[in-house]
Amino acid sequence: MTLSLPLLPLDDLATRVAGPVLAGDDPRVPAEVAAFNLTHTPRPAAVVGATCTADVAADVRFAADRGRSVSVQSTGHGLVSDLAGSVLITTRRMAEVTVDPVARTARVGAGVRWAQVIEAAAPYGLAPLNGSSSHVGVVGYTLGGGLGPMARRYGFAADHVRSVRLVTADGTVRDVDAQSDPDLFWALRGGKGNFGVVTELEFDLMPVARLYGGGIFFPGAAAAELLHTYRTWVDTLPEETTTSIALLRLPPLPALPEPLRGQFVVHLRVAHLGTAEEGAALLAPMRAVAPPIMDMVGEIPYAAVDSIHMDPTDPMPTWERGATLRELPAAAVDELLAIAGPGVEVPLIMVELRHLGGAAGRPARVPNAVAGRDAAFTLFALGPMAGPLAETMPAITQSVVDRMRPWAGRGPLLNFLGVAGADRVARIWDDADLMRLLGVKERLDPGDVFRWGHALLARR
Ligand SMILES: Cc1cc2nc3c(=O)[nH]c(=O)nc-3n(C[C@H](O)[C@H](O)[C@H](O)COP(=O)(O)OP(=O)(O)OC[C@H]3O[C@@H](n4cnc5c(N)ncnc54)[C@H](O)[C@@H]3O)c2cc1C
Repeated sequence: MTLSLPLLPLDDLATRVAGPVLAGDDPRVPAEVAAFNLTHTPRPAAVVGATCTADVAADVRFAADRGRSVSVQSTGHGLVSDLAGSVLITTRRMAEVTVDPVARTARVGAGVRWAQVIEAAAPYGLAPLNGSSSHVGVVGYTLGGGLGPMARRYGFAADHVRSVRLVTADGTVRDVDAQSDPDLFWALRGGKGNFGVVTELEFDLMPVARLYGGGIFFPGAAAAELLHTYRTWVDTLPEETTTSIALLRLPPLPALPEPLRGQFVVHLRVAHLGTAEEGAALLAPMRAVAPPIMDMVGEIPYAAVDSIHMDPTDPMPTWERGATLRELPAAAVDELLAIAGPGVEVPLIMVELRHLGGAAGRPARVPNAVAGRDAAFTLFALGPMAGPLAETMPAITQSVVDRMRPWAGRGPLLNFLGVAGADRVARIWDDADLMRLLGVKERLDPGDVFRWGHALLARR
């Protein structure tokens, strides 16, 4: 029994919502709040499994009236704290997907994962702007910007949002678009969960049925040649080609193909929106650097998009830190190799560079709060939070970012930030954008009901 429970008359709430209402100490809570990132164990005061917008509105009113904060969880891919004391709304029951093949749009409920949208859009030769893993939730990813394998061609997922249904701190349901509330529409797309609970999202789909894509695993011993070639090779690529490269220290898991198990490898990821002939010609300089362990780049249906990054799908405890890089000169590659290259003993699972530019470097047609467009690359370091490493991993990942600081941009993309207090979150934006975000926050959530995820305001 948590101390705060007597303050929450949950029976009263249960009569007003269709979904389950659970006290924080209910034995069903661990299953209800099971997350992808196991580093944090959610400890909300209560959990409400929302089934519809009306449930969300009732939950928010209930919490706000009692001075409680509200947290939201779809998949737990972006869980960055233990949500202690909050009323947690889980959204996975809100799983409706509607595709309009004529308008080329999708409308989804708050609990939808990208895999569902990819499947619903594919029969029409359409594809969404999902990220590296289709297991990630649509809403959390998109509100944080959303950088995916077609980013250089189409920009961020947030750039293609048409409308948002949102419950704000006063329990009001708002349909927000560029006309109805331009400031809130701007802030929601890039400012993440600071302004309310999104219950539905409508966004554009792209006319993509197939692409030339996949990953090539090279031996880690060739990391220096590969990274130095990569940094100049990317300058030759058209906007139709989005790539990333990662130094991977793979665990000896049976789920991995035998030649990769327990190996230090370099993983080049490619998505080219064009013919296989064009793609192969573009890729030739990288293929020539070293014989691959496995080369899985070829023409694929968009539905096979997960094969580009091959992200893990099983929950695990990890710690991450991100940055953006303004440039990637030879000295920056040398520093990266000194941090995580061959022969370096470092317990990082992944150190990744994603190439930006193209449409990801231009403002959206309807401008939004996505920061980091002036960067040339993202940098992302990820390590396990298990055993003694749980003590040291935050410092290890931070040191990657610190050592790359000479080439760093203002801040990481919000979705690549990892655990961070409000001061660190705020540094992502320039002063004008931060003031605009804080203005919207003050207007719609003066009591800071939505203070979880990546909070704009310091905890009071
Ligand atoms: C394996 C993996 C791959 C990833 N790949 C990419 C990638 O390629 N590109 C990229 O940009 N990001 C990527 N991410 C980061 C991911 O986009 C963020 O972690 C995102 O927040 C996950 O959203 P979620 O809803 O799945 O997670 P959750 O943990 O359920 O939610 C995270 C946060 O999103 C917000 N949120 C979720 N639902 C709502 C809602 N209904 N209303 C308001 N706020 C809400 C809240 O702030 C919440 O705390 C990846 C993460 C993982 C673990």
